Amino acid sequence: MKPRHCRFALFAALVTSTILPCSDVLAAPNQAIRHLQTSDWYNTGQGPKVYGLRKFPYPYQAMLALSSDADSETLRKFNLVHRFINTTEQTPLGPGLGLDYADSIFMFNGNNHKSFIDLDRVPMANELTYFRGVTAQLYAADALDHYIRCGWVDTLHTYGDFSRVDERTTVFRRSLAATAAKSLADRGDHIEVWTDHGNKSNVDNFGSYRQAGFYRYQQGEVPGSPYYHTDITIPHGIRFVWPDTSSNQFVRDSVIFPLQLADGRRVWGFWRYTNEHYTSQGAVRWNWTPYGLPEQLTEQHLRALEARHGYAVVAQHLCGTPYPGVLPKDAVAALRLLAAHHHQGKVLVARTSRLLRYNVAQKYVTYDVTHRFGTTYVHIRKISDPVFGTHQPSLDEVRGLTFYTSNPERTVIDLGDSPLPSALVQHNASDGTHPSVGIRWFPSDTADHAVSMPNVP
Ligand SMILES: [Zn+2]
Repeated sequence: MKPRHCRFALFAALVTSTILPCSDVLAAPNQAIRHLQTSDWYNTGQGPKVYGLRKFPYPYQAMLALSSDADSETLRKFNLVHRFINTTEQTPLGPGLGLDYADSIFMFNGNNHKSFIDLDRVPMANELTYFRGVTAQLYAADALDHYIRCGWVDTLHTYGDFSRVDERTTVFRRSLAATAAKSLADRGDHIEVWTDHGNKSNVDNFGSYRQAGFYRYQQGEVPGSPYYHTDITIPHGIRFVWPDTSSNQFVRDSVIFPLQLADGRRVWGFWRYTNEHYTSQGAVRWNWTPYGLPEQLTEQHLRALEARHGYAVVAQHLCGTPYPGVLPKDAVAALRLLAAHHHQGKVLVARTSRLLRYNVAQKYVTYDVTHRFGTTYVHIRKISDPVFGTHQPSLDEVRGLTFYTSNPERTVIDLGDSPLPSALVQHNASDGTHPSVGIRWFPSDTADHAVSMPNVP
């Protein structure tokens, strides 16, 4: 041991003498005659040391998205749920939670179940959709456009609700995909997330066809099929797909995985937590309705998420039941528990599209570090996205990226070689590991964006 210690001491002495450059002596002559202390290392010489990426934006330990499917949704239920989760106003469910939560929508309604989906016997025919039935006539398009733009909607729950009583039949056809994609594009609506829906009548589902067996009903990705549409849908902008797969794993290091479709196209798949238990026969016991929220959002799950610095995408159908109050009391309590973890700076609750984009950036960002006159520069060069290709990121793609540094005040984050506007930069005290500097997360939006439409219940 002894020789090692000696060598280390010698090495430290060499570093001390070489690392104190002339420029620093000139810039701060008084420092040259002081004894160097550890803190001085952080403020002289080559500039602060960058220790790498912090997994999540400071001060958060983890990230979670609520991913809710549009089944049985009405405008009344949609507005009630979003006022409660997104705003901070008084609502029928109590004071709003102020969380970033975005919903999914259907474009068409081909569901022929004779059920009621809301108070006053609202029939399935009035389910909240963009178009009326399977026609090109607009239904709730104006409201849904507005919600896409304001951020209360970020997911397509497939092109529509095509669930039939007889699941050997379907009313989906490729031309509906073309109509939907064109209408969204014409109105400037951009949606990146797709979640599969429903029974085997929903032949526009895709993502799992290549798993064969049960999943052969997923014709959306099969060239030559009358239901093929991923040649329209992927170029149109869908980047992330939940391919109708269950999971009882609440915490994941990463929720994204590359998915190759039957037509050769590539897209990101992502995991959602859908169940805690299985029946004795091994069948999934889905807990993705409001009645399951107390099993999903437990103190134990949230603590595990924080301790393991993980991601969670929690599958739900927040408007999926005919329960008049929409969310039962213990579902409200579970959401309040989640909000407490968020507002205490532990779990960053983010809309699904933001969580997924962040997951890509956090995993695949490439940066380098340079030093100049005592300042350190972190240059974010590219996102080496293995699915959609290496590219220079936009600002929104790198929001939240946070770098550990010995001195945030003298660490500059550049997008390429251009510094970010200072308003977008956040300096953070040590979290017990190191101080850090980060690109600010999206500003919180707790405004009430709810709108109503005549003849849309
Ligand atoms: Zn669904």
